[in-house]
Amino acid sequence: MNRDTEEKKSARAQGKASGAKPGLSTLRRVLPWIVMVVVALGFGLHKGFGTLSDFGWMDVSVLCPLGALGTMLASKLLVPRALISLAIVAVLILLLGRTFCGWVCPVPSVAKLRRAFAKGGRTKKDAEEAAARTPKLAPGAPLTDEEKALLAQSCHEAHSSHGTRVFDSRGAVLAGALGSAAIFGFPVFCLVCPIGLTFATILLVMRAFGVGDVTVSLIVVPALLLAEVVFFRKWCHTLCPLGALMSLLGRANRTVLPTIDNEKCLETSKGRRCGACGRACDEGIDPRHPQLGAARANECTRCRACADACPAGAITFPLIARTQDEGPAPAIAVKEEAKTLQHSQ
Ligand code: SF4
Ligand code: SF4
Repeated sequence: MNRDTEEKKSARAQGKASGAKPGLSTLRRVLPWIVMVVVALGFGLHKGFGTLSDFGWMDVSVLCPLGALGTMLASKLLVPRALISLAIVAVLILLLGRTFCGWVCPVPSVAKLRRAFAKGGRTKKDAEEAAARTPKLAPGAPLTDEEKALLAQSCHEAHSSHGTRVFDSRGAVLAGALGSAAIFGFPVFCLVCPIGLTFATILLVMRAFGVGDVTVSLIVVPALLLAEVVFFRKWCHTLCPLGALMSLLGRANRTVLPTIDNEKCLETSKGRRCGACGRACDEGIDPRHPQLGAARANECTRCRACADACPAGAITFPLIARTQDEGPAPAIAVKEEAKTLQHSQ
């Protein structure tokens, strides 16, 4: 989705004024490009950095979990290196959820290239999505009784049942990717994986300029990558099997999640309509009203867009999200009871 809509620009400006950390947001935006440069340097210097599909140094490396699973299914063999790598990745996902998607994966950054084909850098779809996010009722207006009740429910909600699909379209692609590897005897999906195509493009360009090795792949691979990011705008949200795998394992993750300080949040502290955090989230999570979101907390990529958009600087990412309930951890944790809301009524 277009992250540079007017609404988001203004939300970011408000967020900066309220003490959000623009340095972290900038780091998040440039990190995928830094990874691509490091990989390109590895290719150029013939060092063992590898790519995100097989990243490491010398004999120590971590494999893409989907590639590792696909390869073992294709060969019908348990490969110790792949199993160790899968265990490492599983622990990382349990600790960090889908942080890889928000901070490291090159696909969202490469996808922004589609704006090069759009008039004014903004596609028609981008404009439609921005319009859909615009609140129907003015932000800042007092909450209605109905909204106050909803907010109180949000603050108490221990585990939103909304948007809790275990198996979505990405899951179907994941099943297809693993099934096809078993049937055809090689990991078919790797041929069209946009992460793999990104690094293949880098390698082909490096070889073309480095040793003059120009083949038809230099046209085909980047063209396929471009076609995927231009025509499958919602790749990450509807098709990515790696995202599906991380969401599945990340269901047990409870760390570094956006946490709202009710003493700062405009809705709980002042009884004013806001919801900027929910509108800023590309994943469809609504940190303030989890029951209204299209996705649950395990889809969080820690992109910090919600924190940047918050005009009150109310959202932080503590290592362990604090909850007010003894029960299971909430979809999005809140720091305190909605007592301040009662005061504002
Ligand atoms: S909840 Fe916040 S940090 Fe998580 S994906 Fe949505 S905008 Fe990003
Ligand atoms: S947490 Fe921030 S962005 Fe979200 S509703 Fe409260 S004030 Fe608005």
